[in-house]
Amino acid sequence: MTTFKSLGLNAELLQAVEKLGFETPSEVQEKVIPILLEQKTDLVALAQTGTGKTAAFGFPMLQKIDPTVRATQGLILSPTRELCMQITNEMGIYGEALKNVNIVAIYGGANITEQANKIRRGAQIVVATPGRLKDMIRRKLVDISAIEYCVLDEADEMLNMGFFEDIQSILTHTPKGKSSWLFSATMPPEVHTIAKKFMHKPIEITVGTKNSGAKNIAHQYFIVPGRERYTALRSVVSMNPEIFACVFCRTKIETQKVAEKLIQDGYKAAALHGDLSQNQRDIVMQSFRKKKIQLLIATDVAARGIDVDDITHVINYQLPDEIETYTHRSGRTGRAGKEGTSVIFITKSDRRKIKSIENKLQTKLTEMEMPSPEEVFHSKINHWVEQVKNTPIKSDLHSYLPKVIEAFETTPKETLIELFLSKEFRNFDLHPKAMEFSRDRAEGDSNLRSERRSDKKINAPADKDRFFINIGARDQYEWTTLKDFIRSLLNLGQDDVFQVEVMKNFSFFSTHKDNRDLVLKAFDNLIIDDRKVNVELTKKGKTFPLQSKHKKKKFKR
Ligand code: ADP
Ligand code: MG
Repeated sequence: MTTFKSLGLNAELLQAVEKLGFETPSEVQEKVIPILLEQKTDLVALAQTGTGKTAAFGFPMLQKIDPTVRATQGLILSPTRELCMQITNEMGIYGEALKNVNIVAIYGGANITEQANKIRRGAQIVVATPGRLKDMIRRKLVDISAIEYCVLDEADEMLNMGFFEDIQSILTHTPKGKSSWLFSATMPPEVHTIAKKFMHKPIEITVGTKNSGAKNIAHQYFIVPGRERYTALRSVVSMNPEIFACVFCRTKIETQKVAEKLIQDGYKAAALHGDLSQNQRDIVMQSFRKKKIQLLIATDVAARGIDVDDITHVINYQLPDEIETYTHRSGRTGRAGKEGTSVIFITKSDRRKIKSIENKLQTKLTEMEMPSPEEVFHSKINHWVEQVKNTPIKSDLHSYLPKVIEAFETTPKETLIELFLSKEFRNFDLHPKAMEFSRDRAEGDSNLRSERRSDKKINAPADKDRFFINIGARDQYEWTTLKDFIRSLLNLGQDDVFQVEVMKNFSFFSTHKDNRDLVLKAFDNLIIDDRKVNVELTKKGKTFPLQSKHKKKKFKR
């Protein structure tokens, strides 16, 4: 059996392997590590996401750099800020036992001076996104003229994102004699071009079959009318109460809408898309990673390079145009030998797309039937039973127990269980018609009660207030910035202000009813740029004299 030791890793790195609990090298590691350790060569490695590529280039790079020299010796280019931070973290762990090795991440959207300072203090390895790196080279804040190793990670993604020019420009600042290592999940023509243009007789390594979904991913599709997509999504989620999923939408707006609906319906969901500020994105990703969020609703661009283990389902709320993108999406699940499911919602008329995916992936996709409300309810009860069985005993309740036991002394066990069940599912109307509607409320009540303040608050739409505010696009607000502004003013959480809609001269937003006074107070007498900000509660049925009322006021900015 191959071990990390037999691949030639030194004692310090083996310590990290031990600490990380890696037992055997993955296939790409087994093939790539010895080559990179022993030979000075260019290399192209094709392997799917989740196959351990970071360690495949990370270990050799860490072993080969000279920690006594402070100059930057290794450069790793990666497509997104997320991925950049991930690689830096991971490399930090790999190199923990090595003395005096500094790994610095540089990426856009963060303070450039801070990053430059870190580089100045000495960074043998720099992990960078192309845009920011190019910027810093131009401003002479980083020097890559003496690097020995250059990694292009997720090369296909980088090129997809239009970084070809940037990469080309960056590479002109690197020395000729360096070794280039390119890692990619797929080999589209653009990657081929890069390899041909900038690499010298690269050794090619391919792991598994190119372009195909991993074997441990089950691909399923549901045929649903377009307008029932959301209901279908809820059903799938309800049938899998332990779901930890990434839901892909095609547009930012749809991403946001789906997330907000799910949140209102009491699920632990959040949106991730390009309109969010970096800060918001970080918060969302952190919550997802810590599993505080169960459903991450994302656009393809925003989700690029997300490497979160244990994702049980990838859900294609809509199919992407490119099958390649489908492969990328589904590659987010079924990682590290675990099972994963990729779910597709598709309309009848788009059915032929299933065939083309099957052809491309050389796998059969399974058509699934929507579960009936009864089935969904069954699953819910089963889940509840499991949860009750697995509830840790709260020992400080012990002293109260005798009294409670006494209170139920004459109640037979069956009745007792029925009482608990009825209390738990009291909001659940079992009439078939009603089931459709009350589904979510029961979900919100039973699962989330103590977990997130905001979820509990907004799980029934009736609990929300809708406000009008007299600032809008004219004041340079987009919905994200307005949401941030309101949230920070009210000191509320990420999901406590929702359904923010920005019009030209005014906007709307919603909060939970409990926040009504808070909102009205906060905006009472609020003056920004000499201008009185006006917030009013909208009333059902009452049409708002929006334009006429607010047009008259002329505000100076
Ligand atoms: P890729 O870059 O190919 O998508 P990563 O390098 O991000 O994959 O690795 C995916 C996950 O697998 C990471 O959490 C990593 O820590 C883990 N991993 C890597 N190598 C091994 C190994 N040999 N054994 C177990 N887990 C591993
Ligand atoms: Mg990777």
